[in-house]
Amino acid sequence: MWSAGNLMFDYLIVGAGFAGSVLAERLSSQLDASVLLVDKRNHIGGNAYDCYDEAGILIHKYGPHIFHTNSERVFEYLSRFTAWRPYEHRVLASVDGQLVSMPINANTLNKLYGMSLNCHEVEQYLANVAEPCEIKTSRDVVVNRVGQELYDKFFRNYTRKQWGLDPTELDASVTARVPVRSSRDDRYFTDRFQAMPLHGYTRMFDKMLSHPNIRILLNTDYRDIMNEVGCRQIIFTGPVDEYFNYCYGKLPYRSLHFEHQTHHLPTYQPSAVINYPNEHSYTRITEFKYLTGQEHPRTSIVFEYPRSEGDPYYPIPKRENAELYQRYKELADSLEDVHFTGRLATYKYYNMDQVVAQSLSLFEKLKAKRSRSLPSRSVVVLSSEPENQKQSVVLQEQPDEAA
Ligand code: FAD
Ligand code: UDP
Repeated sequence: MWSAGNLMFDYLIVGAGFAGSVLAERLSSQLDASVLLVDKRNHIGGNAYDCYDEAGILIHKYGPHIFHTNSERVFEYLSRFTAWRPYEHRVLASVDGQLVSMPINANTLNKLYGMSLNCHEVEQYLANVAEPCEIKTSRDVVVNRVGQELYDKFFRNYTRKQWGLDPTELDASVTARVPVRSSRDDRYFTDRFQAMPLHGYTRMFDKMLSHPNIRILLNTDYRDIMNEVGCRQIIFTGPVDEYFNYCYGKLPYRSLHFEHQTHHLPTYQPSAVINYPNEHSYTRITEFKYLTGQEHPRTSIVFEYPRSEGDPYYPIPKRENAELYQRYKELADSLEDVHFTGRLATYKYYNMDQVVAQSLSLFEKLKAKRSRSLPSRSVVVLSSEPENQKQSVVLQEQPDEAA
């Protein structure tokens, strides 16, 4: 069993995804802090991890990750650790026996209905089919813009499959992620910066985490080393309910099963992603070479099958869940020396850039706090004694021998 012996760290960071890695990089390089970064998986990068498969094709183990942001700050920050390959994402949806452009745009409607409307006419068309309503749920947001028929063809069944819930049960913010356009712009995203890390995400994470003050411990659940590690502060990026030992009950997350395949073909499908709203039990197929630009005689793809059980990938945006999260947040806010950031720890359906922005902001707070405080006289020791299981983590003040 791994033992940290007498090693003391300024920060224990749980989770080596975007949230944990940004903090590890900032704290080590800007504050000269010592960091122990722990992940229970056997790799860094969290859900953005990529690797070469047996055929030598760069794949995203946990499904397609396309980088896009409007934040210059985030793009500039990540650009310190990677060069980029410009990439604008395009998606097709299989609807009524045709492959049509998604998000719905002028091309989608013209192909679907055999029309040849210009953009102005498409706006008129949408205005005619729209069913204006008060927007409360993920159904309302779509029906309000495109009416029931297009909602049924593109959104209803995909959402039921993806979330195991009807769109009427989900916050409007879920389907609002996908716009509807009257123009011919068929890009999935319109952000200012759209690009893929030139040599992949994992290479970028390697660079972020190369500072000598960072120690990385993989294949390790932080709970298994709590008795052995001394640290002043904890950054937690795993599921917030897990941290508090589910004391208010489990927060629901949606999971996925990924089925990876390699084919002896130069290309498998006509675009990077094809969505299947109404057929199959998977939601979409992604072909990685479109994303990475890799040239290879074979091609690798991934199918995404939504699941209720398994690794937590998606917080589920609905009111009851937000209320339950709020109770955990109050607990989290009451801890002086434990900080929560990232998609799972703040229960937010965040994209990568939002997680980076959130973690950069947390760093600024920690930096300001550190410059305000006098040198610390105590360290935090984590304990997971059986009697403390209910609280999950107990923080004890001890004399600071390592200061
Ligand atoms: P994570 O990447 O989940 O990292 C958390 C880490 O904590 C994990 O590695 C986990 O193993 C570790 N951990 C948890 N509990 C413990 C524990 N007890 N002990 C030790 N370690 C622990 N975003 C985009 O911007 N564009 C996209 O195209 C995109 N596509 C996506 C596709 C899919 C299928 C999914 C699921 C997400 C996608 N995202 C995308 C979102 C993106 O993955 C997240 O925003 C980002 O990876 C979150 O980073 P994070 O560090 O908060 O969490
Ligand atoms: N969605 C849909 N049909 C589609 C694409 C998306 O109904 O063809 C809905 C679905 O509810 C999905 C949400 O819009 O979960 C957000 O889509 P996005 O592509 O942003 O999902 P992600 O890439 O995060 O899985």
